[in-house]
Amino acid sequence: MTHAWLFTGPPGSGRSVAARAFAAALLCADQGCGVCPSCRQVAAGGHADLLLVRPDGLSYGVRQTRDLVLRAAASPVYGRWRVVLFEDADRATEQAANALLKAIEEPAPRTVWLLCAPSADDLPTTIRSRCRLVTLRTPPTAAVAEVLVRDGIGQEQALAAARAAQGHIGRARRLATDPEAARRRAEVLRVPVAVSAAQPDGGLGHALSAAAALVSAAEAEAASVTEELDVPEREALRRAFGEGSTGKGVATAVRGAAGALKELEDRQKSRATRLKRDSLDRALLDLAGFYRDVLAVQFGADVELANEAQADELRQIAAASPPETTVRKIEAIMKCRERLTANVAPLLAVEEMTLALAAR
Ligand SMILES: [Zn+2]
Repeated sequence: MTHAWLFTGPPGSGRSVAARAFAAALLCADQGCGVCPSCRQVAAGGHADLLLVRPDGLSYGVRQTRDLVLRAAASPVYGRWRVVLFEDADRATEQAANALLKAIEEPAPRTVWLLCAPSADDLPTTIRSRCRLVTLRTPPTAAVAEVLVRDGIGQEQALAAARAAQGHIGRARRLATDPEAARRRAEVLRVPVAVSAAQPDGGLGHALSAAAALVSAAEAEAASVTEELDVPEREALRRAFGEGSTGKGVATAVRGAAGALKELEDRQKSRATRLKRDSLDRALLDLAGFYRDVLAVQFGADVELANEAQADELRQIAAASPPETTVRKIEAIMKCRERLTANVAPLLAVEEMTLALAAR
């Protein structure tokens, strides 16, 4: 039995879902039947032998990792294995990765590590060379649409959302069920036309206002997701500390609650930062998808367009410039993503990109 596994796949390919199913199989007496108490506890994230690590912030630190390694090494409570499922393992800081490496090099006899990351290259070689690799691919549009139809979404709408989400099931579901998310995406896709119109100032004004619109659409998207997550967490905490109770021990409880609330707020704040970055990145990927469609039209390639709904705009841009220009624009988008990862101020990086998109 391999003690370390690495699940990789693009966002939305279900790498953490696959890892969790594998964890259920390891912990179940019947190889992951899906119905026994053990399997149900794994699904709910409450199994005593499953340590679920989900970095909320932009990075995962060394102190947290050391603590995790200690807890991971304990003997299983019920069965044969103790399983650590580490989502977004690529967010481990360098020191955290070193602590992790030690645990994987000399694994506790009953501990299995399941790491998840977008690709094997996102982890240090020393770690990935000790893992058995499980590579997931992006599901095809039809498969994503089928999942949505099963959820009760109409065929047409499911297909359009699946195409737009480019294989990301969660994103497709959101686009199909949240009109605001769909509206914000449409706003992002207006950028190419907005910046390509001939302007007396060379398109400077349009490029800058498109950048501002992109960043604020991403922020609005992140804010709506953040609120959905934050509100129930705060309520659960308030309930846990028995809001409104009276009598002895209230003072102690209030002090404890204040500390826990502060900790929750810190965690939520760092998650909000990450969600903002993720949603801007998704907007950039939507934009890159648009220019990829432009390129397909320019080459007359027989591929499925992600942005069928914007067919008129696609053709308009495709006709107005050569393929080389389109390639340069896609490169500008990818460079912007890199700069955001390197912590460049979002508006600055996006402005630089929209100026490159406006250039002909
Ligand atoms: Zn089971």
